[in-house]
Amino acid sequence: MRAFDYVRATNTQEAVQLLADDPAASCLAGGTTQLDLMKDGVLEPPRLIDITRLPLHGIERRGDRLHVGALASMEELAADATVAQRLPMVRESLLQGASVQLRNMATIGGNLLQRTRCRYFRDPTVAECNKRAPGSGCAAVQGVARMHAVLGVSERCIALHASDLAVAMVALDAVVNIQGVSTRRTVPLTEFYLTADESPERENVLEHAELITEVEIPLPPPTARSGYLKVRERASYEFALTSAAVLLVMDGGTIRQARIGLGGVGSKPWRAYEAEHVLTGAPATTATFQDAAGATMRDAWTVPGTAFKVPLARRTLVRQLQTVSGVQE
Ligand code: FAD
Ligand code: SF4
Repeated sequence: MRAFDYVRATNTQEAVQLLADDPAASCLAGGTTQLDLMKDGVLEPPRLIDITRLPLHGIERRGDRLHVGALASMEELAADATVAQRLPMVRESLLQGASVQLRNMATIGGNLLQRTRCRYFRDPTVAECNKRAPGSGCAAVQGVARMHAVLGVSERCIALHASDLAVAMVALDAVVNIQGVSTRRTVPLTEFYLTADESPERENVLEHAELITEVEIPLPPPTARSGYLKVRERASYEFALTSAAVLLVMDGGTIRQARIGLGGVGSKPWRAYEAEHVLTGAPATTATFQDAAGATMRDAWTVPGTAFKVPLARRTLVRQLQTVSGVQE
C-alpha cells in the first residue's frame, strides 16, 4: 500500500477546502470501500481527508421528509423508527447488505458512493479496464462477468453499481444535498448517477471538492406498501444478483401509484420507469406484473456471463410485486 498523508477535518468547509487544495486527495468515511481499494493498489491518493468527525451524523424527520446525515451508519438508519414504520424497503435493503460489523462502520454517503465490485477493476495487474485506465478496453466483456450489469452498459464497460440502499433510494425519489467550497446544491438521486455506457470513468456528477452532506427521503403516503427483495448466491454477506425495491399505492384491485428500483442489473441504481408506466392505473394481476417486468428488461445488453440476469430480474420483480400487492394470481 502506498504511503499517504492523513488529515482529520473538523468542519465541512475545512474538508471541502482541503479537497480543493489537492486534486489527488480522497475523503475517508467508514473506509470499508476506500481502504480496500487502497490496499489493493487500485486507488493511490497521496492524502486522505478524514470526514468522520464532521457534524453530519443525525437522522431527523421534518414534516414529510426524513433527513439523513451522510455520516449516519447503515445500522443507525436501519434502526430508525420512521424508517421502520414508513420506509420498510430502506430498512430491508440495509439489513440485507454486508454484515453487521460492516454496517456499523459504513456510512450512508459512502454506501451511495461505493465503487463497483468488478474483479478486473479491483485488480490493477489487469491492463484492460476503461474505468481505471480510460481507453484501455474492458476485460469483463470477454471474461468472468457474473456480477456485472445488463442495463446502461456497452462493450466499453459493464460494471454494476452494487449498492442495495441506492436502489431503494432512487425508487423513493430521494435527493442528496451537496456542499462545495462556495456552492451548495441538491441533486435527485435519479440524476446523480451516470451510466457506464455514457462514461465508464465517471460514475456520478459529484465534483472532486464536493461532499454529500445529507440525503433527504420524501415519505411515501401512509397507505403505501413497500419492500425490497434481494436474490443472491447465499443468504447473507453477499451482493445482489438481482433485486427489486417496490412501492405500491393500491385502490382496491387497481394500482394507483408504483415506484420501482432494480438492483444487480444496472450500471447505476436502476429506476424502472417503463414498469411503473405499465403498472400505473392497471389491475394488480400477475399478467400485469409480467408485462411490467418485460418492459423494464427489454433493452438489456448482455454478454454470455450476464444473460441469465434478464429472466432472473424479470422473475425477481414479478415476485416482489406479488408480495407487496398481496396478489398471487
Ligand atoms: P468509504 O469507504 O469511506 O468511502 C467510499 C467512497 O465514498 C470513497 O470514494 C470516499 O471518498 C467517498 N465518500 C464517502 N463519504 C462521502 C461523502 N459524504 N461525500 C463525498 N464522498 C464520500 N453494500 C451493499 O449495498 N450491499 C452489500 O451487500 C454489501 N456487501 C459488502 C460486503 C463487503 C465484504 C464489503 C467490504 C462491502 C459491502 N458493501 C455492500 C459495501 C458497503 O456498504 C460500502 O463499502 C460502504 O457503505 C461504504 O461506506 P464507507 O463509509 O465505508 O465509505
Ligand atoms: Fe473495467 Fe468496467 Fe470492464 Fe470492469 S466492466 S473491467 S470496471 S471497464
